[in-house]
Amino acid sequence: MSRFAVISDIHGNLHALHAVLSRIDRLGVDDIICLGDIVGYGPHPAACLDLVLSRCGAIVRGNHDDAVMEHANLWGFNGAARAAIIWTKRVLEAGHLHEIGNLPQITHVSGIAMCVHDTPIPASGGYLHDARAAAPAFRGVDTAICLVGHTHVPMAFGTDALLPEERVLPSQVAVQRLSDGSVVELDPGCRYILNPGAVGQPRDSDPRASFAVLDLGAGTFSLYREEYDIASAQEATRSAGLPTVLAERLTIGA
Ligand code: ZN
Repeated sequence: MSRFAVISDIHGNLHALHAVLSRIDRLGVDDIICLGDIVGYGPHPAACLDLVLSRCGAIVRGNHDDAVMEHANLWGFNGAARAAIIWTKRVLEAGHLHEIGNLPQITHVSGIAMCVHDTPIPASGGYLHDARAAAPAFRGVDTAICLVGHTHVPMAFGTDALLPEERVLPSQVAVQRLSDGSVVELDPGCRYILNPGAVGQPRDSDPRASFAVLDLGAGTFSLYREEYDIASAQEATRSAGLPTVLAERLTIGA
């Protein structure tokens, strides 16, 4: 297996997930990797969870997935996020919570790609938005490639520092913002932290669902954006009684 679709931050947006999975089927991949936050914010957490569990060979748990577990601490979530987590907790059945609880926080694919939700440094909970945040995170990367989600912004960080124990300085990290059609050529002499953006709630001003294809044979990470029925996703969000801001932000990709 060498060609993987990489999806993240679905957040209960079934309309976006369906659109992305059918594009992935047309592209043709060996397997699908999901970097977590399957639930939270959107109106279809159970259906998204069922689809991800049936379609993805590698899945890690995100902070919103964690937050629906019993006794989870909701400190640190803003009002709308917290309201959505409480709503999600109510609609998920025990079987779904059990499946979420069984998901790992770190997994490896093909021995070359480390998969985490937010950062490769366990429990640091950081957002890798820039070279300053990414540089220390490279210390936690134990393979050539680390796949992350969490920021909802597609990006690539690269460094030529090869050993995980090497201290990486922000000035040694190349940063690339990714948009539809961006292709990162992966140099075998470098290490990378790669973010495919969000399927269900993009935050880079492009409202289209975001995902990537990691092709280990070709040595590329390619970013794709996919149109989906935003109006129907918004309607479902409103009729579920979720905070209206969660519907509104889908139009502007923020
Ligand atoms: Zn998220």
